[in-house]
Amino acid sequence: MARLVMVGPPASGKGTQAQLLSARLGVPAISTGDMLRAARTVGSEIGKKAETFMSAGQLVPDQLVIDLVRERLAAGDAQSGFILDGFPRTVGQAEELDRVLEAAKRPIEHVLLIDVPRSQLLERATLRRTDKRTGQIYHLKYNPPPAGVELVHRSDDQPETVNRRLDEYEVMTAALIPFYAQAGLLRRIDGVGTLNEVAARLVSAIES
Ligand code: AMP
Repeated sequence: MARLVMVGPPASGKGTQAQLLSARLGVPAISTGDMLRAARTVGSEIGKKAETFMSAGQLVPDQLVIDLVRERLAAGDAQSGFILDGFPRTVGQAEELDRVLEAAKRPIEHVLLIDVPRSQLLERATLRRTDKRTGQIYHLKYNPPPAGVELVHRSDDQPETVNRRLDEYEVMTAALIPFYAQAGLLRRIDGVGTLNEVAARLVSAIES
């Protein structure tokens, strides 16, 4: 049983680490960014509403992601646990998540904050690529994809948009850190290092 929340700036590695932890713990990694991108690709109502915010590097309105997550957490595979990646991003979302989980009597166990200095984040984001078919995340320098994989570069991973997303993170999401610290849930993890080094730090934070 693991009920985890991953917090960290864009390109801190939280998506990659959520995928690794998901495989290790056997619980789904739930990424609101991935869900919104999928909604945008199929052109659903939610996707259309999210489009303008996402391409501007801004957060989408709280209610939109809250509804998505509430529905996703009710699915069968999330009953044994979950790793939330990229949600909550605001204190409003965190309070709403608490209400949903409290009603189900399955509170969050750990909030894992992946710490990476801003100077490294821009390079990480601009060299990030995703496997179009599987969603697997690569980095052209630190975690290069195997040959033959069809790669996509997220439109919001262009330098100007990344800078805007980092500003947005500092203004909105940083308020989550004291919120979860006060609740005694925050585990701060050094996000500088190889994938395996960071993964090992996360595992020991969860187990300690
Ligand atoms: P991500 O893949 O987590 O970096 O998310 C990509 C984009 O989706 C963000 O820049 C936001 O526009 C939107 N998004 C994802 N999760 C949230 C959230 N919890 N609250 C608001 N907007 C979100």
